[in-house]
Amino acid sequence: MRADLPRFDLSQSAEQLRVSFRFDEVVRLRESYAVLDEGTIVAILEQAAAFATDTLEPLNRAMDAQGAQLRGGRVHTAPGHREAWAAFVANGWPSIDHEAGYGGQQLPLPLCLAVQEIFDRACPAFGMLPVPQRSAARLIAAFAAQDVKEALLPALASGELGATICISEAGAGSDVLQMRTRAREAPDGWRISGEKCWISYGDHDLTDAIVHCVLARSDDGTAMRPEISLFLVDTRVAGQDGVQVLRTEEKLGLHGSPTCTLAFDEAPATIIGERGRGLAQMFVMITQMRLAVSAMGLGIACAASDVALAYARERRQGGKPGDPQPIVAHADVRRQLLELTARTQLLRGLMLNIANLAELAAHGEDPADRERCAALVQWFLPIAKTFGADSAFANSSGAIQVLGGAGYTGEWPVEQSLRDARVLSVFEGTSGIQAIDLLQRRVIRDDAGLQVFLALARADAGDTPLTRCLELLEAAASALKAASPADQDAGAAAFLDLAMLASAGWVATRFVTLPGAGQPVAHMRAAGRYWLDRIEGRSAMHHAEAVQGAGPIAHFAAFA
Ligand SMILES: Cc1cc2nc3c(=O)[nH]c(=O)nc-3n(C[C@H](O)[C@H](O)[C@H](O)COP(=O)(O)OP(=O)(O)OC[C@H]3O[C@@H](n4cnc5c(N)ncnc54)[C@H](O)[C@@H]3O)c2cc1C
Repeated sequence: MRADLPRFDLSQSAEQLRVSFRFDEVVRLRESYAVLDEGTIVAILEQAAAFATDTLEPLNRAMDAQGAQLRGGRVHTAPGHREAWAAFVANGWPSIDHEAGYGGQQLPLPLCLAVQEIFDRACPAFGMLPVPQRSAARLIAAFAAQDVKEALLPALASGELGATICISEAGAGSDVLQMRTRAREAPDGWRISGEKCWISYGDHDLTDAIVHCVLARSDDGTAMRPEISLFLVDTRVAGQDGVQVLRTEEKLGLHGSPTCTLAFDEAPATIIGERGRGLAQMFVMITQMRLAVSAMGLGIACAASDVALAYARERRQGGKPGDPQPIVAHADVRRQLLELTARTQLLRGLMLNIANLAELAAHGEDPADRERCAALVQWFLPIAKTFGADSAFANSSGAIQVLGGAGYTGEWPVEQSLRDARVLSVFEGTSGIQAIDLLQRRVIRDDAGLQVFLALARADAGDTPLTRCLELLEAAASALKAASPADQDAGAAAFLDLAMLASAGWVATRFVTLPGAGQPVAHMRAAGRYWLDRIEGRSAMHHAEAVQGAGPIAHFAAFA
């Protein structure tokens, strides 16, 4: 028997959404958002929490114990998965953030991510199917022809059609340009041939069909710099001969989510968008998926910190002989718990703020403000993705520490959390690649987002220690701009750490000034104060490492 997760704190989630940056403006952006008064928001979160507790939590254990399996060339999901998916579809959950014109409920992104957190807290492997569905829908809405939109978008919104993102190949992971999958233009349309690996939900028995969003070379294969275009492969058209599952991976965690190697063999495909602009266009999908990793990280981090807090209130060790105290009374345990809960709250705050900015960038009225919001989203994206990934793993590991030996056993859900969380800093672009992306593209090439962030955060920082952290962030950015490429590469990871600290610090300064006396606000204020109390020393350390240059890395020569 495994211990249950503590109940999800709905009031905390609803309050954080309500006070998130410019949420009051977001609910006025579109007609479908106007229905979102406080009562409706709480009702939606309540329904999500009930589904998570009743259906997803038990499934999480079953999926971990018996993952998806490849039999007879098809992937069969774990026992109970099909029934849970059918209930998810029947309750309308896949459609919440799809466009109203194509059968969606068109709810705002911050609310959709708040709902995703609840589902991922209960069962992260389950949530890995709806995420590519909704991200593919955005991609198709942005680039496909009208008839393709009409054929695919309603089926994605209803949950009848699965979706994947097919980028990775054995020889092309971070280095996408190495891809070998080819697209050939035949008289009756495009054909795709090649192997894509590690494709999440590349095959399954939950939907009758899947639309694969595939990047492939559309040149003749001889160009030095490949021409990469974006294609849709619909399994209803391609059939089992066109797309075959060669294998599924045995992996550390997320056992319920099949990770497939797919062979495309002259599969009929539809090109979308502009030929040769596939990678740039795919970023519409990648952006959604990276934000979703942040929400997934939050779900896992929240589960771990909730388990740790509940356990520490019950477990008695230390204190007077014969009268042991609950371990939550010990300063060292409090230190650990604060780190876990503060991370959870600040990550949630940051993710919701970014989601609001994404809404304002897409639907705001003022073009200059839309541009500022878009620059901020670009700046925050690698930060949110990495902060989510790091928090999921750090909180799972930290929760095991608080639980002691019990945490390491299967009796508690945190050992599974640790295994499930580990991949978040690998897929959707490794943390190393996020750090390089942030430094090269968002600081050195175009620092518009950084400048907007600095102005915004300075205005909120007042005389808090965030001001010093922002000075160090700006100084590190200037030093790295002027540094050699080797020094830039060496400092990128520490710069990302500093940027995460500052971004969460911005959320913290907004938390500490929140008015009101209720418990959710008290939690936010405490999390914010703790973060700001720690920020100076931590930012000094990350700044020093960011600007230190490649010198220390030269020691690797001894091992090369
Ligand atoms: C469970 C799971 C699910 C996945 N789902 C999907 C999916 O649905 N669709 C899909 O397309 N892919 C998927 N992937 C693949 C995933 O996106 C890749 O694993 C990831 O992009 C990293 O590629 P790689 O594994 O080849 O690592 P590599 O690129 O080989 O990187 C290995 C290490 O080298 C570092 N590195 C690489 N290049 C550089 C560089 N230029 N500078 C500095 N450091 C560098 C990396 O940071 C990393 O630490 C999935 C992977 C897993 C494990």
